[in-house]
Amino acid sequence: LSFTGALPQDARIDQLVAEAHARYAGHDDGVVADYIPILAEADPAWFGLSVVDVDGGAHAVGDVGVAFSIQSISKAFVFALAADEIGHDTIRETVGVNNTGLAFNSVVAVELNDGSPMNPMVNAGAIATTALVPGAHADERWQRIRDGLSRFAGRPLALDGEVYRSESFTNHRNHALARLLQSYDRLAIAPDEAVDIYTRQCSLAVTAQDLATMGATLADGGVNPLTGERVVSAQTARDTLALLASCGMYERSGEWLFEIGLPAKSGVSGGIVAIAPGKGAIGAFSPRLDEAGNSVRGQRACAFLSRTLGLNLFASA
Ligand code: GLN
Repeated sequence: LSFTGALPQDARIDQLVAEAHARYAGHDDGVVADYIPILAEADPAWFGLSVVDVDGGAHAVGDVGVAFSIQSISKAFVFALAADEIGHDTIRETVGVNNTGLAFNSVVAVELNDGSPMNPMVNAGAIATTALVPGAHADERWQRIRDGLSRFAGRPLALDGEVYRSESFTNHRNHALARLLQSYDRLAIAPDEAVDIYTRQCSLAVTAQDLATMGATLADGGVNPLTGERVVSAQTARDTLALLASCGMYERSGEWLFEIGLPAKSGVSGGIVAIAPGKGAIGAFSPRLDEAGNSVRGQRACAFLSRTLGLNLFASA
């Protein structure tokens, strides 16, 4: 049963979120990421689900209080902060808005496209986007990012120092991507600085509850439904959702849109945020991933909730 109107009553949302959790908690397909050593320590059983609506109502079940590093999901919100400052056209021209069809950390994608970072949702494009965040020096840029993501979450977010150190010792490929962009004159600041800030943004600790609130802020045209604060403009929220639809789930974005019909972003620690414009957002967390790096339980739960809550953007009945 699906419908395209408003969200169902609160009690019904609670029930469906609980049902989604119960259905998929026992599924154990997929593997926990280990290319960032500390991520391998995650408990594969963790599973949290939260829906936050644009009126600020929250519906949560499972491990919604467990903190994990935001990883690639930061790309969506750093993009929004950068685009809000430098504008739609500049982002389109300097970073790009097309899917690579390749893995999130692909070097080949850049090489095949004359040095273009391609889009802000893969590592090359995210590093280029982070470099566009205004600031007189690295600390100022980082503070702007941390404060901006905190405004999306409606609470102060903190860096997970262990994740930051673990990734900083092993992120050779991201350094290579940044150097490659520099060689094409496509990076606005020094490569080591851009990668360091990018690594920090990926190491911010969040919960599934935070992801749902951050997504609901985009669903609400840039206004955080819990704090009432405008974080980005309505135009920026719209631009961000368009990019998440085409590029948010990496090379699986087409399949995701075909099955689930929502803009979304995933990260290798197991988070997914899926946004229903004008309605709200789903925050999911479960560390077992498929080969593209997307949470398996998170995808299944989002598919179930998109269907039963009537969220699919392309459904007319
Ligand atoms: N920090 C991770 C990286 O750069 C983020 C990747 C992801 O979540 N897909 O490799």
